[in-house]
Order: sequence, then C-alpha cells, then structure tokens
Amino acid sequence: METRARGHCLCGAVSYEVHGPLRDILLCHCEECRRFSGYVGAFTAARLEHFTLVEERGLRWADSPRSDRHAKRGFCGECGSSLFWQPADGERIHIAAGTLDPPTGLEVVGHWYTHQAGDYDELLGDARPKDSELATTELRWT
Ligand SMILES: [Zn+2]
Ligand SMILES: [Zn+2]
Repeated sequence: METRARGHCLCGAVSYEVHGPLRDILLCHCEECRRFSGYVGAFTAARLEHFTLVEERGLRWADSPRSDRHAKRGFCGECGSSLFWQPADGERIHIAAGTLDPPTGLEVVGHWYTHQAGDYDELLGDARPKDSELATTELRWT
C-alpha cells in the first residue's frame, strides 16, 4: 500500500510510516497527556496493520499508570520526544501529530478530557466539540 505519512522523533532514533488512513487530530487535555507531552496530547491514529516502524533503536515504552485502557506511551529514549499512545486492547496506534512530516492534510477536530486541563490552557476557547459532544461526532479518516 502507498505511504500515507511518515514521521520521526527529534533525533531520528525512532521513525515510522503509515500505509493507510489517518484519523483527524484530537487534543487530549488529560493529566497523563499533560505531563507526558508538556501541554496537551495532540493525537492522530492509524490501524496497527497500517503502521510500520522504520527505525526503532530509540523506542521505549512507559506505562500510563492511571489509564482506563491500560495504555502505554512510546517515546524516544535518546532525545525524549513523545510519540505514541497505545491502549492494551487496541487495534490502533495513536500518533503524536507533531511527529508527522508536513503536510499532513489533517485537522484538529475536538477536545477530550477537558475537566483535567491545566488552568492556563487556552485551547478550550474554540467552538470544536468537547467530551460528550465529541463522543457522538463522526471522525474523519483520510
Ligand atoms: Zn529521538
Ligand atoms: Zn490524554
């Protein structure tokens, strides 16, 4: 299948390709994304069978200790970039949007876990769907 997208960490010790559709981007304001990313998590997603690691020498996984879905978080052990969120039962890998090479063709479509947002978080001021509204929104895969 044709390559839909490529991405990598800051230093290149983790890189990947996606050979299939990507979901539009959700901003996750949960405490764990906040701590792991430094502000909010901004994730697209791909089906696991469409995802290929090209370089994984830097890839490390951290448990996400309070995750409802027993997720783990992938990062680069050499440069520290946060890259992936993967639930234990998932068919998809969630990819930090900032690690994709541009142009992505993706849009930010909504906000998750807004009740855990930092008190400086200005991203919630837009009209995009939030939490329960988002749960009923049909997300675009391109
Ligand atoms: Zn790196
Ligand atoms: Zn989150």
